[in-house]
Amino acid sequence: IEKRIPDPSQTQMLNRLWELQKSNGYIHDDDIKELAHLFNLSAVEVEGVVSFYHFFHRKPTGKYTIYLNNSIIADIKGFHRIKETLERETSATFESVDRTGTFGLFLTPCIGLSDQEPSALINFYPFINLNVSRVKDIIAKLKNGVLPETICDAPADNIRYTPASGKSVFFKEFIPGTAIAKLTDIQPLGVIEELKKSELAGRGGAYYPTWKKWNAAKVQAASPKYVVCNADEGEPGTFKDRVLMNTQAQSLIEGMIICGYTIGAAYGIVYLRGEYWWLKNKLDEAINDYRSKGLLGKNCGGINDFDFDIRIQMGAGSYVCGEETALLESLEGKRGEPRTKWFFPVERGYLQQPTIINNVETFCAAARIIEMSADQYIKIGIAGSPGTKLISVSGDCQLPGIYEIEWGMTIEELLQLCKADDPYYMQVSGPSGECISVEEKFRRISMLDLLGQKDIRCGGSFMIFNKQRDLVKVLLNFSEFFKNESCGICTPCRAGSFIIQRKLERLDNGLANEADLEELKSWGTIMRNTSRCGLGKTATSSLIMAMDKFHDYFETKLDKNFDGLNLKFDMNAATKDYEEYKI
Ligand code: SF4
Repeated sequence: IEKRIPDPSQTQMLNRLWELQKSNGYIHDDDIKELAHLFNLSAVEVEGVVSFYHFFHRKPTGKYTIYLNNSIIADIKGFHRIKETLERETSATFESVDRTGTFGLFLTPCIGLSDQEPSALINFYPFINLNVSRVKDIIAKLKNGVLPETICDAPADNIRYTPASGKSVFFKEFIPGTAIAKLTDIQPLGVIEELKKSELAGRGGAYYPTWKKWNAAKVQAASPKYVVCNADEGEPGTFKDRVLMNTQAQSLIEGMIICGYTIGAAYGIVYLRGEYWWLKNKLDEAINDYRSKGLLGKNCGGINDFDFDIRIQMGAGSYVCGEETALLESLEGKRGEPRTKWFFPVERGYLQQPTIINNVETFCAAARIIEMSADQYIKIGIAGSPGTKLISVSGDCQLPGIYEIEWGMTIEELLQLCKADDPYYMQVSGPSGECISVEEKFRRISMLDLLGQKDIRCGGSFMIFNKQRDLVKVLLNFSEFFKNESCGICTPCRAGSFIIQRKLERLDNGLANEADLEELKSWGTIMRNTSRCGLGKTATSSLIMAMDKFHDYFETKLDKNFDGLNLKFDMNAATKDYEEYKI
């Protein structure tokens, strides 16, 4: 498959590293030298790539490498019991390997299974809804030589709700070839017009009009052009793209083909997060099926002179690679550090060529719009927000899973649908999104983003917390996540996320006073205003909002008599701490 798409060598770096990691359990010194020679790089450059990704290790990770999810949803569903049981049963401690080299235990922040927590990956095979006896059973079987792939789970899709009266956009039957068959009647400009009429906007959270993005790549003179699917949904609490890829791979493939046809690209790449290795075979099968039917490859879909093919690139455990320019760097086999934005990817993206990057939901929606026509699509939803939106619901509710809602649904309706359990606080669009109290349940979910209006945009994650959940612990979990995922390239995010996590720890331990709250706010603002990419800019959004909306609650966490002065932060010390932590 790789040979079909002419990539210069370093783009294969992650694939070579995965082969080594999977076959040997780690990347050996000699591997670094060999890769440096192969890709004409220095050993330090290769080392830099290896050290960037959580799933590449420089020490053995055990015959069975276990990644246990420690997201806040896992936490409230029994993560600690599972963690203790794993340590007891394997005789390993987390972030290390047992003495016999059999079990390696590691924590990871989100594996896209928030509707089935606690969950873990063992040698990248999924294990869901874990409890103590199940963990004991799994470990006993592994000790007896049973292979993880023979006892792993098939995660449920949990599609809980779709709109009535045939208004489901995503989950109705999709016959391969139906969307691309329409291309014989409409020219690329016709696709742009349909997308414009549909008002489809990027579903990764930025909501940039899809037609504008595709048109901007279409008018570029440079060639070749590329179509990249961002299947790196790493925002804790988000798992809708997992379900789409598992159930609707065909509409994803056709969305990419339609994009390729529109902008004049011949190559598509799905950047699939490393946590979804278990989905790769299924996607490969769907791609091969399209090839065998003549729907991919030369004269793709029967369209003369339109050649288009797709390959999958596995990521390796890095949240920031969901940022589009970091993703491009990663695709090129480098550290996934966000680029300085001299150019948009539509001008200079993958290998400095015009590139469209959209996420899975956007490509699936584009295929459905071409299949059903924009005229039909805009009949669904509300004015200014036509169509439907997929929401991943998790946390304190009886029915976690995927909800395909018509835009315009209120928070209250969604809470009722999922049978929320005494909701108190919701985190919308993941840790980088918006925190809302139950008093805001009248607000609608829509794409409308007008100041003064009360609608909520939702990137796809909707986490529910009831009154028993300690808000500071939730925020502490988020801050730890951002601290671990910061690429470290710019100071406000690198040091700020570290400082904020320390401050929240103090608040959690009753060792903070009013001054600490002020410092939390001011660091949050500094990060938002001065960080280089979206990760740092949004990492403190929910903290700042929570401090405003739940001011009384934060007051109860303070020790008014505590003299916090001698605990004031020293920036140099914090940065030093950070460096040690990273090492
Ligand atoms: Fe890296 Fe954070 Fe700066 Fe983004 S904001 S470039 S993740 S350090």
